[in-house]
Amino acid sequence: MLEVNGVHTYYGHIHALKGIDIKINQGEVVALIGGNGAGKTTTLRTLSGMLRPKNGEVSFKGRNIVGMPAHDIMGLGMSHVPEGRRIFPQLTVRENLDIGAYKVNSRKVINERINEAYALFPRLKEREKQLGGTLSGGEQQMLAIARALMVDPELLLLDEPSMGLSPKFVEAIFDIVQRLNQERGTTILLVEQNALMALGVAKRAYVLQTGEIRLSGNAADVASDESVRKAYLGEE
Ligand code: ATP
Repeated sequence: MLEVNGVHTYYGHIHALKGIDIKINQGEVVALIGGNGAGKTTTLRTLSGMLRPKNGEVSFKGRNIVGMPAHDIMGLGMSHVPEGRRIFPQLTVRENLDIGAYKVNSRKVINERINEAYALFPRLKEREKQLGGTLSGGEQQMLAIARALMVDPELLLLDEPSMGLSPKFVEAIFDIVQRLNQERGTTILLVEQNALMALGVAKRAYVLQTGEIRLSGNAADVASDESVRKAYLGEE
């Protein structure tokens, strides 16, 4: 579904991605883990068209998407939930979902998708008329994910969905990741600092370190790798 070959991305002179290769097959949950500043967010921004790589190829469903505007990439079926859950604080939950569906023309389809989102996140239905900014952190993360689902994506990019959440919400978010994958068949690329949880839900994983892929493989193999256990799973 997605193939990334030799991608280099810069911020001015800062060489953030140094030739990364990633492959994601349809129906997989793939984790991308790594420490602070490793380039995880930059990778997602490069895939969704927010950043343009200087070199390399990104192909999504067989099409080269390098240089394509972000909204066109979304139109092809890729949806990105950015870091820090950028919802609209002054708009209600429902209005936030409506905005997520701006690419969808049919009111009927939009309403159906909002109902699907509410089925997945009953808490959002209860808070339909509440302003986004008044939701708890976990509820805002649910809203950010629900909004990204309004375009019915085939590939969902999730940037640190568990960041700053209480253990109860972390569980809820990982549960949703699994349900989306199992019940809807959504392919998911999950960026996480919470490596243990991410490796628990993912089928395969990539470990990014200072802009390079250091290790990749089945999630279970990555989780048992000694260097990963020391660096990311808190073992001595
Ligand atoms: P974190 O988990 O801390 O968010 P990350 O793995 O997502 O880390 P990135 O945010 O992708 O890492 O950052 C990769 C590198 O690019 C870092 O060295 C960072 O300082 C740099 N960088 C990120 N955003 C910018 C920017 N807007 N301008 C300049 N440099 C940036």
